[in-house]
Amino acid sequence: MTTNSTNNTIIQVKDIVKKYKVGDNEVTILKSISFDVHRGEFVSIVGPSGNGKSTLLNMITGIDRPSAGDITVTGRDVNKMSENQLAGWRGENVGIIFQFFQMLPALSLLQNVILPMDFANKYTPKERRDRAMSLLELVGLADQAEKLPSMVSGGQQQRAAIARALANDPPLLVGDEPTGNLDSRTAAEVFDLFNQLVDQGKTMIMVTHDKELAHRVPRRIEIVNGRIASDDYLRQSSQPVAVAN
Ligand code: ADP
Repeated sequence: MTTNSTNNTIIQVKDIVKKYKVGDNEVTILKSISFDVHRGEFVSIVGPSGNGKSTLLNMITGIDRPSAGDITVTGRDVNKMSENQLAGWRGENVGIIFQFFQMLPALSLLQNVILPMDFANKYTPKERRDRAMSLLELVGLADQAEKLPSMVSGGQQQRAAIARALANDPPLLVGDEPTGNLDSRTAAEVFDLFNQLVDQGKTMIMVTHDKELAHRVPRRIEIVNGRIASDDYLRQSSQPVAVAN
């Protein structure tokens, strides 16, 4: 482990640089980004489109690797792990929630939630089914468990995707525009679910362009032109989210 991280630090990002080759040119997307996230924090990453937010998240999950710098997540040097090690680590430590849900279309919601448990082999087969059912119950979908993703609404698919992200009880949840494909009412419901999970001890980091929701997240990191433009702890609003008609 590097430098001054504590047991309470779940993400440590240190001097991250990310460059891509575009034709003959090299473009620097992230320019020396550093921040820590503590266990139990709820963090939003905001900023203009194309400024490197998803790229940053992909480094935290090990989906992409930095050109320079160190990333430690749940005590592991993420960019030093092999692809195999990463897959195993991610399966148990990180629940990822995508904008377009990414449910496997031929599997029922229940089977989709069981799948990560089959990969991780942390629970017995009997436990997996029971656990998947209770996770679907947690997200309000117990009665939809046997349906295919195409038979339920976008909001329900995203809630099932959250149940899937929780399958192996990871300490960290990562969302890349998790409410970006939902209407504002459904987005608010999904957001409430994230709050509930954070209250229960999960750490959540999510990229969002939804200003209303970002204003309700306790900490907001703003990325502009590949750098941290601001990193603010916000006063929690007790106001309900405004729902557009
Ligand atoms: P944001 O999430 O803030 O919208 P992204 O992280 O998706 O931004 O993208 C930041 C920039 O990096 C964009 O200009 C995008 O085109 C570029 N980019 C992302 N991935 C690649 C890649 N694999 N190769 C080249 N450029 C990329």
